[in-house]
Parts: sequence; structure tokens; C-alpha cells
Amino acid sequence: MKIAVIGAGLAGCEAVNLLIKNNFSVDLFEMKPKKLSPAHKLPTFAELVCSNSLKTTRDTHPQGMLKYELLKLNSVILSKAQLAKVPSGDALAVDRVLLSKLVTDEIMKMKNLRIINKEVEELPQGYDYYIIATGPLTSESLSEYLASELLGSESLYFYDAIAPIIDAESIDMSRTFFGSRYDKGGDDYLNIPLTKEEYLKFIDALRSAEKVPLRSFEKPRYYEGCLPVEVLAERGIDTLAYGPMKPVGFDERKIGFKPYAVVQLRREDKEGTAYNLVGFQTKLTIKEQERIFRSLRGLERAVFLRYGSIHRNTFIDAPKHLNITLNLKGRENIYFAGQITGVEGYVESIATGLLSALFLIFRIKNISPVIPSARTALGALLSHTQREITPYQPSGLHLGLFLKEDVPKKLKEERILENERKDFDIFSEEIKNFISF
Ligand SMILES: Cc1cc2nc3c(=O)[nH]c(=O)nc-3n(C[C@H](O)[C@H](O)[C@H](O)COP(=O)(O)OP(=O)(O)OC[C@H]3O[C@@H](n4cnc5c(N)ncnc54)[C@H](O)[C@@H]3O)c2cc1C
Repeated sequence: MKIAVIGAGLAGCEAVNLLIKNNFSVDLFEMKPKKLSPAHKLPTFAELVCSNSLKTTRDTHPQGMLKYELLKLNSVILSKAQLAKVPSGDALAVDRVLLSKLVTDEIMKMKNLRIINKEVEELPQGYDYYIIATGPLTSESLSEYLASELLGSESLYFYDAIAPIIDAESIDMSRTFFGSRYDKGGDDYLNIPLTKEEYLKFIDALRSAEKVPLRSFEKPRYYEGCLPVEVLAERGIDTLAYGPMKPVGFDERKIGFKPYAVVQLRREDKEGTAYNLVGFQTKLTIKEQERIFRSLRGLERAVFLRYGSIHRNTFIDAPKHLNITLNLKGRENIYFAGQITGVEGYVESIATGLLSALFLIFRIKNISPVIPSARTALGALLSHTQREITPYQPSGLHLGLFLKEDVPKKLKEERILENERKDFDIFSEEIKNFISF
């Protein structure tokens, strides 16, 4: 039985972990460190390319439920994320270098695993099963192959932006203040308050700044949840003041005046040696990023450890091409996992990595697959890949994807959680009869 997993990112590593735990031999193909995508910087596996946050852990939030389920199924990446955690209120934020190292070390010591460091340009011959987990930045040659040989022209591209990271030592802390909105998370964030005048000047600068031009084949389509800061500024004067720069939930006595907007910076590592500008993903030119972000108080001498930038996102028309078990209609030995399936987000990518391996194991064992109900987070996420929407758009997990009963609004969150736990217990009990976690 020969299995090839292509891509050692979030989904690929998660899939490999489950396959190896179930005593299969796997060849893992990864183009790093020989070739890096425009967003990947580390030579190691499972790299977070933008924010260092895996979002909230709150029980009643879909993201919290997804984490709960993945941890119950011993997700390798989430288990390591607990070890690489940095303070971040109720969110699970991590030291991205440490997380990547911990996952890589774990993968490297697995038996029955061969790591092949090369860019896959077409499906390697001689395998019985494949999991393609090459992510939103699948290399160009493989994208072309997928479009021409496997899917037709439905493979789509769009673009996303990443936020700058600033060296903590270069920040004038005396002009900023520590604190979280409504004290959720103590002093995890560094904040820069703005008066109305400063805010309006900042918006004006963002709007008129020079942006990196899109190339002729690029279409400016972004994830709604990760819009470039200048795009938000262009949407309306107060869009940022109601979005990532919300001035609410702070103690004004600490600031000395009533802020019109607040910029937040979040720790990049446990030691707090670097901070990212929360929600400031951008496609401004480097020169403009320096000029505009250094105009914020405390950042006058900011040293940028990483500039914001733009990147391509590749995903397939999943409802058209994939079964609910994440394998290709008509070529059922080929599975897809991660962002390329049209799910959006780190934890969602991890989840589809685990699910693709789970369904592959069922197939190899010739057992009818157990599908999680859409009242669970895993099932709700999976249901997105089957949504017949035109055009198919990537989505993160949200409450709208859950199968819900018609209950009063104030009971809704509790009831969804209650149902989720109940159905997930049934699902996990059942799969544990066949699969080791
Ligand atoms: C710029 C950008 C910013 C993002 N920011 C966020 C964010 O802040 N929060 C969030 O939740 N989600 C974010 N996402 C979305 C998504 O969660 C991440 O991209 C996530 O890493 C996807 O996981 P994955 O396993 O699908 O792909 P990846 O983690 O990217 O893994 C794919 C792996 O495949 C390898 N590979 C690619 N092509 C080949 C090939 N031909 N042969 C061999 N190996 C190959 C790559 O080197 C990589 O290691 C962002 C996406 C992008 C593009």
C-alpha cells in the first residue's frame, strides 16, 4: 500500500500523523527548504504564514468547538500549539517558529515515513493513494497540472495580504499602553490610542498611499476576514474605527484622553520580542508601510521584521469536484486537504487534514466512512465543501454552517454547544472502533 501526501503544511502534517499512527507507510513530499512560496519563510513544516493566532478557544464559539474536537482526536498540531502558546487572552496564539519546530521534530521521528524534499509538478507515479495538501500557495507548476489534468479550468486564484511585524525594542513603549479590550486577557496587547485628528490623517494617508500593483493576471479578491487595511480605509472613513481599530473596552484614565481609535499590537513570541500590527495586513509598498506606520505614536523608530505583502490563494471548486469524504469524484484515490479545498483558516486546514486521512483509512479498510453530523464543528466545516454556491467561495467555520434547531436566540449558542458535544461524542466513539488516534 503506497500513500503519497503532498505538502507538509498544516493539513499535510495532520494527515501524515493519523496515517502513521494507524500503521500505514507514507511518502511525504515537500518543496521546502529548496523552494519557498512567497509567504513561507521557515525551512520547517507547519508554518503559520500570517497571524500567529489560531483564534478563540471559547467553548460556545465555532472556533472553540473545532479546537475541542481536534484536541479530543489528538491533533498533532493543536497539541503542539498548546506547548508553543503565547499570552493572548482567550485566543490560542503561538510562537510560530517554536510551533513549526515542534511539529517538524515530531514528524521527523516517525517510523514508516519517508520525506522527499522536492517540488511536485505532477502526481508522482506508483502510488495507490494521494492526499494533496499544497495549500493556498500551491506552486505554479502543480497548479497548472491540477487545472489541466485533474479539474479543468475551475481552479481559481485570488489574493490575500499579510500584516507587518515590528521589533519590540524599536517601539517607544512609554507612548503606548498595555491592555486588552474589556480586560479580556490582561496585558497581552500593546495599544496605540489615536485622537480624531490623528485618525483622520492616518486614514487619509492609507487611502492615498502607493500600493504594490497587481500583475495583469491577478484579480483583487480578498478574504472578507483578512482585508488589507487600506481596502478597509477605502470602504469608509470609520470602517477601521469600527473594525480592527475599535476604541472600546479600554480604561480612559490609563490613556489620558478619550481615543477615537486604537491600534493594537499582539506579541509574536512568548518573550514579547516582536509584535504584529493586528488587522494591518497590507499591500502598501515597503516605503509607504514605513512612512505611514511610523507616523503612529510609539512607532516613530519602528524596525520592521517583516513587511506586509500580498499573496495568491489557490482553491478548487470543491462542491463540483469533491465527495464529502474529500476525494475526487471520478478519481477516488485522490484526496484533497487544507485550504485548497476551499476552507479558510489555520484550524480549518488542520481539521480537513485530519478528516482526509480519516476517510482514506476507512477506504483502505473497506469500511463505510463515518461522517460527522453537521451539528459538530468538523461536520459543519465539511458541509461547506459541499455547498452548491456559485461561485464557490472559501469560508472559515461559522455558526451559519451548523445544522441548527429552531430555538430562541438566547438559547441558540448553548443549544448548539449541547448538540455539538452530544453528536461529537457519538462520532468519536464510533470512529475509535476502527481508527487509532
Ligand atoms: C498570505 C496568507 C495569509 C494567511 N493568513 C491567515 C491567517 O492569518 N489566519 C488564518 O487562519 N489563515 C490564514 N491563511 C489561510 C490558511 O489558513 C493558511 O494558508 C494555512 O497555512 C493553510 O494550510 P494548508 O495546509 O492548506 O497549506 P500550507 O500550510 O501552506 O501548506 C502547504 C505546503 O505545501 C508545500 N507545497 C506547495 N506546493 C508544493 C509542491 N508543488 N510540491 C511540494 N510541496 C508543495 C508548501 O511549501 C507548504 O509547506 C492565510 C493564507 C495566505 C495565503
